[in-house]
Amino acid sequence: MYEEFEHDTEAYRDSVATIGKDGKRVWLYPKKPSGRFYNARTWTTVGFLAIFLTLPFITHQGEPIFLLNVLERKFIIFGLLFMPQDFHLFVLAMLTFIVFIVLFTVVFGRLFCGWVCPQTVFMEMIFRRIEYWIEGDANAQRRLNNADWSAEKIRKKALKHAIFFLIAVVVANYFLAYVIGMKEVTKIISEPVTQHVGGFAAMILFSFVFYGVFARMREQVCTTICPYGRLQSVLLVPDSIVVAYDFVRGEPRGKIKKQKEPLRKEPCKSDCPDCEECAAARAAKNILESIQETATVVEPPKRVVGDCIDCNLCVQVCPTGIDIRNGTQLECTNCTACIDACDEVMVKVNRPKGLIRYDSLNGIKAGKRKIFTVRVAAYSVVLAILLGLDVFLLTGRSDIETTVLRSPGQMFQEVDAQHISNLYTFQIVNKTHKDMPLVLKIKDDAGVLKFVGATTAPSVSAGKMSEGAFFIEMDKSKLTGVKTTLYIEVYSDNKLMDKVKTSFVGPMY
Ligand code: SF4
Ligand code: SF4
Repeated sequence: MYEEFEHDTEAYRDSVATIGKDGKRVWLYPKKPSGRFYNARTWTTVGFLAIFLTLPFITHQGEPIFLLNVLERKFIIFGLLFMPQDFHLFVLAMLTFIVFIVLFTVVFGRLFCGWVCPQTVFMEMIFRRIEYWIEGDANAQRRLNNADWSAEKIRKKALKHAIFFLIAVVVANYFLAYVIGMKEVTKIISEPVTQHVGGFAAMILFSFVFYGVFARMREQVCTTICPYGRLQSVLLVPDSIVVAYDFVRGEPRGKIKKQKEPLRKEPCKSDCPDCEECAAARAAKNILESIQETATVVEPPKRVVGDCIDCNLCVQVCPTGIDIRNGTQLECTNCTACIDACDEVMVKVNRPKGLIRYDSLNGIKAGKRKIFTVRVAAYSVVLAILLGLDVFLLTGRSDIETTVLRSPGQMFQEVDAQHISNLYTFQIVNKTHKDMPLVLKIKDDAGVLKFVGATTAPSVSAGKMSEGAFFIEMDKSKLTGVKTTLYIEVYSDNKLMDKVKTSFVGPMY
């Protein structure tokens, strides 16, 4: 990306930081970060955990306010129940979400990953911290791993992995709570295993999966598995704000060289005529004066190195092992550890902070950022349209969804000389959290509705569907042709909940 600078090469593209020349995994030992961004991320983690750990306990009318039950295809978002019948809403919501992600990424890059992605939060702010606490910083961890097995090593490793597994069990339980609800999870934990073999097996399986992710897979999830990470190459544009190295200011990079002045003896101050030292000083002074008289003014040499002192600290703290000075790479999770590390270095060498900072490529090159580009405007318009459609469909969504179909292959039946009947099947879905006794009526009493096998309309349980069949009997005098349009109204507690249109088939006169 920074081809105009001689230090930059494309060699970094030939290898992956976590794969050695022998093709084996290179285990990373990122140095513990510290600084203002790390502190801010710590507080963000506290907020994230507060929400993550309390959300499954919050209920509304006996149901969690947030549930993603893919097994039963039942989703509750902020208390609103979505069932398979709401598939169109689900698809539209997904489309809206994707457009939002695209727009957000075009503007702010992978900001989400660094601050609130559960993988980063758990890995960097919880599991990694425990590792630093037990095994020490990067070098101590490296030494411990390379050391022979000893009582000390066994103790530290056992303690670390025991804590890792315990946290993985907690994460797995909460993960399940978001899928099947905390009530079910509590039952699995408190009741005999034999009553919940499947649930218990899922708990164990997910505990090992999460343990494997945080103890072994680590950065591989972000760099090779996560689809969002892989999509960065097509989503990011030169105006996207990402964690970036200011190559204009930083290059050409170079180590700080300490100026070594030769030790000089203080000259004799008396300017005595016979002293050798004073004679030499007089000669030097004469030469200097003659040079100064004839010399032209020479500009002081321009600074030959940039602000990057090539200390490599930004690479050492990186949890994905990359060198951000090579430019934006899809391995970068925007965790900001390199910003903190570099800021600390800049303070020490008395240079301004922000050599690595949130900025865009164009911002670094031109010195000013541009967020509202044509692309952003186009995505925003699409997002606004989709959001409008979402709101329109959500507000028009009824708590009861009724489907009435005339029985296929059936014509009409003569009940008596004056009446004929049609057979219908119905499905009624209750999208609320409470059971609903229902009454079905034909609008304007155009006919009489008689349920097959029941005398009254069904009661539909919360979040369930009721199915059945009914006859509609009509007086021949009320028919308007071969097909007469009818409206069936669904009431609960005398409140009209839904109205569906159907047709009644009669004889041709
Ligand atoms: S931490 Fe800053 S100064 Fe050190 S190598 Fe990285 S960019 Fe250069
Ligand atoms: S380069 Fe590494 S340390 Fe810097 S933000 Fe990206 S992932 Fe974090």
